[in-house]
Amino acid sequence: MLSRTFRIARQSNRFLSSTRILASKPAPANVKTATNLAEVTGPDSSLIGPGATPGTIPTDMDQATGLERFEILGKREGVDVFDLEDPITEGSGTPQDPYLVPTYIGYRYVGCKGKGGEEHKPYWMKVEDGKLARCWQCGTSLTAKYLGEPGHAHH
Ligand SMILES: [Zn+2]
Repeated sequence: MLSRTFRIARQSNRFLSSTRILASKPAPANVKTATNLAEVTGPDSSLIGPGATPGTIPTDMDQATGLERFEILGKREGVDVFDLEDPITEGSGTPQDPYLVPTYIGYRYVGCKGKGGEEHKPYWMKVEDGKLARCWQCGTSLTAKYLGEPGHAHH
């Protein structure tokens, strides 16, 4: 069963999206099937496909549901909904201009492997909203950028 709902945050020129757990909100019933990410309204029937016509083998767009369908919709738009690639796109890694790590919960674990071609063993840091985190190996600076609902971040 799907117990998650989705939030799609649009930040400047980049689409960031992630799953978000909403414990109390009931999913609205009988929503039309989303044909793109912007039409996804939650873990409801907007993520249920129309099904295959009789006598045909169903395609992913016919029958994929839930998180799988959410991911497929993202791929069709070129949006990496689970941030499987490098999610950090802002900042230069200096203390004055730290990398901004997108987060929906106020913090995110980041593994630094060096900068400027100087690789080092992954150094894992908890990067929090409003705090500067620095890699002890190479000095790269990071801070978290909260993208979720205002007032919901918890540290
Ligand atoms: Zn480093």
